[in-house]
Amino acid sequence: MGRGSICGFGYSMDELIVFFGSEYGKGAYHAEALFRQLYTGGNAEVSGTQEYRPAAELAEKVERDFKVCLPEVGMSQDDAGTRKFSLSLEDGAITESVIIPMVESETLCISSQVGCSRGCTFCETAGMGLLRNLKTDEIIAQWAVAHFDLGTKPRNIVFMGMGEPFDNFDAVIRAVDILSDQRGAAIPKRRISISTSGHVVGIRQLMELENRFPDRGYRTIRLAVSLNASNDDIRSRLMPINRIWSMKELKSALLDSPQSHKKDALYFEYVLIPGVNDDEQHADELNRWMEGMVAKVNLIPYHPTGSSPWSEPDEESLKLFHSVILSSGRECRTRRSRGKGIEAACGMLGKYSRLSRSVL
Ligand code: SF4
Repeated sequence: MGRGSICGFGYSMDELIVFFGSEYGKGAYHAEALFRQLYTGGNAEVSGTQEYRPAAELAEKVERDFKVCLPEVGMSQDDAGTRKFSLSLEDGAITESVIIPMVESETLCISSQVGCSRGCTFCETAGMGLLRNLKTDEIIAQWAVAHFDLGTKPRNIVFMGMGEPFDNFDAVIRAVDILSDQRGAAIPKRRISISTSGHVVGIRQLMELENRFPDRGYRTIRLAVSLNASNDDIRSRLMPINRIWSMKELKSALLDSPQSHKKDALYFEYVLIPGVNDDEQHADELNRWMEGMVAKVNLIPYHPTGSSPWSEPDEESLKLFHSVILSSGRECRTRRSRGKGIEAACGMLGKYSRLSRSVL
């Protein structure tokens, strides 16, 4: 795969304005035109725009400095239309992203890291270890390729690809800020979900941002917590992060965050694994743990891969678990993973990247 140049996507509008002042002696007028061109055209070709027509020399400098050439895309698609694509970055690292067709729109699932250090036992990405964090422009490039190259208009963005987003907090939040800017991609923060394995410091950092900048809408970002257990014993076995931050600490952080007091802002993801976390008692215990939080539950039947130690849950245990959660008055959906056939379902990204690590 060819490697692109995507640095233009790394700047917020404010940063572009500062850059234009210091580098070119120009201001917001020209910076905004570049920002618009990047997010409506997918390139930095400003020379044809009204703002740059009388400023050919400036246009030449801008096009030289902000050259955008999106990385080449490797893609696969399943019968239901779920598409997985990977991008080859400048150093050879590979990102993976998934476009999931919804009833009237599409959801884009993006990666925040190449690999992941968190070691969840049910996750394919964990097997890669962490290769590196993605930079802001590399995160945004995944949206840009989905939009400009693959012709989709993702309505929702979910950070559920490779990586623990809060382990790459600054780059992820910068990407969220840029993607939600009305003058560019204009994806509202309430349509962006950050999926965390229970990174308490990250949850609290987001809360600090919400408090420091109440007008920026950080409180509307959705949090999806990959929970997968109803007590510390099971969770620590499945997810090593629980040995750092227990379920008590996690709940305390969530109770402090605005997301746990608002409808549609907090989700618990629960991969149902037979013989591990799928008993009726686990569902009861989970209900008790969630008390006090306004949150929905997404149940995800575990799907085994080649080397999996567990099997797929049967319909009966799924239905029983589902009904116990519902009986507490909480909303619960059983989410059939999409894209299983192309290794694009939850916890399956990274398999191909791992295979290609030898050529990095
Ligand atoms: S589930 Fe998420 S946090 Fe856990 S190893 Fe996989 S990518 Fe990392």
